Amino acid sequence: MAAGSAIQIPSRLPLLLTHEGVLLPGSTMRTSVDSPRNMQLVRSRLLKGTSLKSTIIGVIPNTSDPTSDCDDLPSLHRIGTAALAVQVVGSNWPKPHYTLLVTGLCRFQILQLLKEKPYPVAEVEQLDRLEQFTNQHKSEEELGELSEQFYKYAVQLVEMLDMSVPAVAKLRRLLDNLPREALPDILTSIIRTSNQEKLQILDAVRLEERFKMTIPLLVRQIEGLKLLQKTRKPKQDDDKRIVAIRPNRRINHIPTTMEDEEEEEDHDDVVMLEKKIRTSSMSEQALKVCLKEIKRLKKMPQSMPEYALTRNYLELMVELPWNKSTKDRLEIRAARILLDNDHYAMEKLKKRVLEYLAVRQLKNNLKGPILCFVGPPGVGKTSVGRSIAKTLGREFHRIALGGVCDQSDIRGHRRTYVGSMPGRIINGLKTVGVNNPVFLLDEVDKLGKSLQGDPAAALLEVLDPEQNHSFTDHYLNVAFDLSQVLFIATANTIATIPPALLDRMEIIQVPGYTQEEKIEIAHRHLIPKQLEQHGLTPQQIQIPQVTTLDIITRYTREAGVRSLDRKLGAICRAVAVKVAEGQHKETKPDRAEVGEGEDCKEHVTEDAKPESISDTADLALPPEMPILIDFHALKDILGPPMYETEVSQRLSQPGVAIGLAWTPLGGEIMFVEASRMDGEGQLTLTGQLGDVMKESAHLAISWLRSNAKRYQLTNASGSFDLLDNTDIHLHFPAGAVTKDGPSAGVTIVTCLASLFSGRLVCSDVAMTGEITLRGLVLPVGGIKDKVLAAHRAGLKRIIIPQRNEKDLEEIAVNVRQDLTFVMASCLDEVLNAAFDGGFAVKPRVESLNSKL
Ligand code: ADP
Repeated sequence: MAAGSAIQIPSRLPLLLTHEGVLLPGSTMRTSVDSPRNMQLVRSRLLKGTSLKSTIIGVIPNTSDPTSDCDDLPSLHRIGTAALAVQVVGSNWPKPHYTLLVTGLCRFQILQLLKEKPYPVAEVEQLDRLEQFTNQHKSEEELGELSEQFYKYAVQLVEMLDMSVPAVAKLRRLLDNLPREALPDILTSIIRTSNQEKLQILDAVRLEERFKMTIPLLVRQIEGLKLLQKTRKPKQDDDKRIVAIRPNRRINHIPTTMEDEEEEEDHDDVVMLEKKIRTSSMSEQALKVCLKEIKRLKKMPQSMPEYALTRNYLELMVELPWNKSTKDRLEIRAARILLDNDHYAMEKLKKRVLEYLAVRQLKNNLKGPILCFVGPPGVGKTSVGRSIAKTLGREFHRIALGGVCDQSDIRGHRRTYVGSMPGRIINGLKTVGVNNPVFLLDEVDKLGKSLQGDPAAALLEVLDPEQNHSFTDHYLNVAFDLSQVLFIATANTIATIPPALLDRMEIIQVPGYTQEEKIEIAHRHLIPKQLEQHGLTPQQIQIPQVTTLDIITRYTREAGVRSLDRKLGAICRAVAVKVAEGQHKETKPDRAEVGEGEDCKEHVTEDAKPESISDTADLALPPEMPILIDFHALKDILGPPMYETEVSQRLSQPGVAIGLAWTPLGGEIMFVEASRMDGEGQLTLTGQLGDVMKESAHLAISWLRSNAKRYQLTNASGSFDLLDNTDIHLHFPAGAVTKDGPSAGVTIVTCLASLFSGRLVCSDVAMTGEITLRGLVLPVGGIKDKVLAAHRAGLKRIIIPQRNEKDLEEIAVNVRQDLTFVMASCLDEVLNAAFDGGFAVKPRVESLNSKL
């Protein structure tokens, strides 16, 4: 348009390559963008740019953009239209793309392509001579007759349309007000023309040529309209309306025949969709909403972004399992067998799960508490959930909640947003296709919170049996009955589960495994699974139990079995290579012999023991000899051991003691180190400590200072005032792990007692317990995990608070047999047990005095 053309376009333009439709100056076009280069242009130029200049782009017609950005740029159409991007709408349906609304400004010609990636940019020359537009009289003189003729036809055409339609009336006014030079482009884009014709008009740079070429098009349209009016005389009004509505709806885009067909197809689809809606078993409320939406859809032009949204919505509504469910088959005896077959150990958990299932069988409803398995990673929480689904014959779906901090993740986005979608619950139902699956809500302890609302609050509604029969997802906007879904949650710790959510759930602790349990799990479950996954058979690989123990102690340090499983996978992969190579060589014996030059090895059969994989000669083994994984092979495959028992080395100096800590990942042993130096009685603490830990340290020092004489503890200068001219530094190594909790109290006391007495703490002792200022030892939590960690680390004696004695019952007998437990009720007992030969209390001088 005149106003548009009055601006000078930049000499460098980013190029948008389009294949369908031709944008002419003065007209507006909606175009869909989905190829990598075009998407890049939209993202980095249109969505990021802030100036008016950054919204001007060059639209190159008749050039399809390669689908991959590494493909070469195709040859570009020489002439394009500089355009103003008026609107950008993004959508993810059916694949990520943008819809651009662009208005043509003027023609340009590409002089030189400056760059191709990430999107093409070219140096351009503006073609439409702007002075023509501003200096109307001159141009009118030159082209007088031609433009007059054109104008007449244009008026004739517009007057054949229904003037009562506002768009037509506006068009009529524009014909008089616009400069004549702009009319060919604008009218060409309004009337029914093919892309080819539009392209010719675009390429007609000279105005005279343009007028000449458009006149026949106008005449053709006029004739067409006349014919239409004649054939449908009785319904003349209607015709006018149809013709008029079309330009109104897509003023620049009158459908060609092919598009007509597409539209019809789509119409058929909509009819089908309606049929599906009517025959689906959705709730009455949902049906009502759907019918309303389909009515709207029928009236909507397809190019509207909302068309896709609405259709997407309706398709989801049809797909949802409103009434579809699987039939429960529950037989407790079979369930017990299945749980036992799938999982070794974890007796407490299996027992509780069976109780839960038994109650369900008898009561036949789900209004019980929601089970929540809490334990370190890799102990089989998810896997038990899967087994429950299997025993019930239900579908299983896992919803990972770790890091979810937006309640729309659970409850969906309202449909007013671009790219809105349903929440994870509804999505899960769509995936499984039935309304009674087992949903595993994984990692409920890692739900976040943000400005977008609290996802835990949304979960509350999902999990509450009183409310969840009418759960309303924001996207669906109608209630869906979740009461048939069986929810199971998992977490690493209950400390971070929001209290209201915790209240809805029954917590079942799943502790870590002992070494023996891990060996059994590996041999009964993990190794067979890994062999199968790698296409190996027990005849090809042999992993003895000592090797498994080596992997457990030297290559993993975890409460569960996940990294053990991964290491076994690595071994299987390495063996698979050897086996495959071996087979390859067997088929070509000549080459193997020539290559290796070890022909005699091939005949070793009778007394040959299974060879180590580290032995390269085993490539020539007969096929039935399994590859034995011994420690050398382990080192070859997994590298040098990652964890060596460092305990005794670290305890070779006074001022170090081993504590036991509980973390969400299971129990851990923790070294506490202390040193002293000249100073002014200050205490320094390092190693990511929480407030409670700092308080424990202060308590420990106070207790030792008050008992220094009794234990003959002195500082460097021999004084019983331990902090006199002395600074103390306490360090809790493994600085990346935040440590908090009172249970390190006894360890700090022991460590400092060692420092001030100069005696070594026994290297095989670990301890845990809270202390009071008067020297009592109070009970702490997580005893089972802590004991298992100590056992893993090869420690022999464990000091625990007297009142935790009852917790020992939970620990497997074989672990208990390996360890000696010292129950302590006061710090004297702790120190006596921690040092070889006890920590003698000096006879008190005062007590002698009192006799006098
Ligand atoms: P979690 O959910 O607790 O992090 P998973 O359920 O994903 O752990 O378990 C990790 C792997 O360990 C799975 O392959 C599972 O089959 C296996 N596994 C864990 N515990 C046992 C067990 N007691 N018996 C058999 N396999 C187990």
